[in-house]
Amino acid sequence: MATRTDIHRPSAIKVEDYQSIGYVYLWPAQYDDIGFAQWNRDERERIEEQVQANGWHWSNHEHGGTCGICGATARFVGVFVHVPTGEVIYVGHECAESVEMGNGDAFRTLMKRIHAAQERHRNIANARTQSVAYGIPALECGQFSHDILRDMWGKLVQYGSLSDKQIAFASRLIAEAKAPKAAPVAESVPTEDAPEGRTIVTGTVLGKKTVESPYGDTVKMLVQSEAGWKVWSTLPASLSEASKGARVQFTATLKRSDKDRYFAYASRPTMGKMLSLDPAI
Ligand SMILES: [Zn+2]
Repeated sequence: MATRTDIHRPSAIKVEDYQSIGYVYLWPAQYDDIGFAQWNRDERERIEEQVQANGWHWSNHEHGGTCGICGATARFVGVFVHVPTGEVIYVGHECAESVEMGNGDAFRTLMKRIHAAQERHRNIANARTQSVAYGIPALECGQFSHDILRDMWGKLVQYGSLSDKQIAFASRLIAEAKAPKAAPVAESVPTEDAPEGRTIVTGTVLGKKTVESPYGDTVKMLVQSEAGWKVWSTLPASLSEASKGARVQFTATLKRSDKDRYFAYASRPTMGKMLSLDPAI
């Protein structure tokens, strides 16, 4: 290598001629593809814009490495402009410290942030490998807008592994999330008011719900009659198989709602009969 004659060489440098314009990490090129530490990339762009805006120029830097002073391959660098010439150089943090250029705290903050970003990058790579090994590669975030799955992915990234129980749970949730949703049960417009008194109700189950009470849990169902009015009833034992969409018939005493004339509350439901499991049948 030819003897250096540039203004930044250690024997010639005049620290007072430089002004700091930023602190960045010069990462290996492979990290550029994966959005690693976006703020560091933004900072590099900001610095480049500043160089352009001020009509500065980067030094030719023919002595190799990245550090404009010593030529070492430094990754944590301060960016400095040599004010008299407008020449911009990177200075490795060790060099900067030894010649007392720049701000030591700024270097330490940069290193902390980069080390955290590197750790996160390693953890995500590990989580990807693990989720494939567990047979649930779909756990990777972004696949589902599902709070629990997203949370489990976060745990895998953070802790590096999942228990067998968690894996089984995640597999089930993923299978559910992938399964096509049952077609919504079509609701019809009521053509008559909900009746009162002992009534034979023929209609479609719109939904079921378990209601807790001090006397134990009760399964309730919402049924829409053929005439369109709805009734809220305890599920008679004979209709325990009835799920959403099933056509059913039962007898109950109805009491119309004060707030909705197309809605009734049923009591003493008996004689439940399944007409079909699905309205289409
Ligand atoms: Zn150096």
